[in-house]
Amino acid sequence: MLTKGIDIRASRTHNVGLFATEPLPAGTVVWLPCTKCSRWSREEVAALPEDRFASLDTYGHLLADGSLLLPCLGAYLMNHSCEANVLDFGLDFGVAVRDIAPGEEVTCDYATFAEDHGWSMACHCRSPRCRGTITTDEGRSPGLRQQWSTTVERALPRIAAVPQPLHDVLTALSEPYRRVLRGLTTLGEVSTGAAVHAPAFAAAGWSPPA
Ligand SMILES: [Zn+2]
Ligand SMILES: [Zn+2]
Repeated sequence: MLTKGIDIRASRTHNVGLFATEPLPAGTVVWLPCTKCSRWSREEVAALPEDRFASLDTYGHLLADGSLLLPCLGAYLMNHSCEANVLDFGLDFGVAVRDIAPGEEVTCDYATFAEDHGWSMACHCRSPRCRGTITTDEGRSPGLRQQWSTTVERALPRIAAVPQPLHDVLTALSEPYRRVLRGLTTLGEVSTGAAVHAPAFAAAGWSPPA
């Protein structure tokens, strides 16, 4: 599920991307996997024709259990940036890690999708800190993980301080969100180990809408 105030527009680095249409202050939860997101089981993934799987894998996330999640409401169109303004590291949702102004593209870091082993892409994000080739394997790099952790922890105390259009869904689905609202501020306290690509509801026998 994607928060309000975001629209799909032509992107300067990709065909299309997600753009803020209103200010999204640091701490705004921008998206989370929800029960309306499409999901294919490991068996269904195995039965997909190769080209169909390739196109779904481009936009979706392979989960630890071998299933595939395609975020709903266009959230799957969020592009990568090596200086992403949304991060999900250690969380089961994506949070704005700095203020996002209207007109700015909303981006995340694809290297955080660590379950999608062996995936890589040439990056054209134009950031001075561009890493060139993005791989999900680099998501295991200690330096990168420390950087994500520091950046996310700076945003955590903001979560309770800014409007959260997704509050009801987050309260229902996300234990890390509930912990943040109880005043916990480090990833060690907040994280359940269920990353954004492996949401808790996925393990509860939930199946995709027909
Ligand atoms: Zn959803
Ligand atoms: Zn880049």
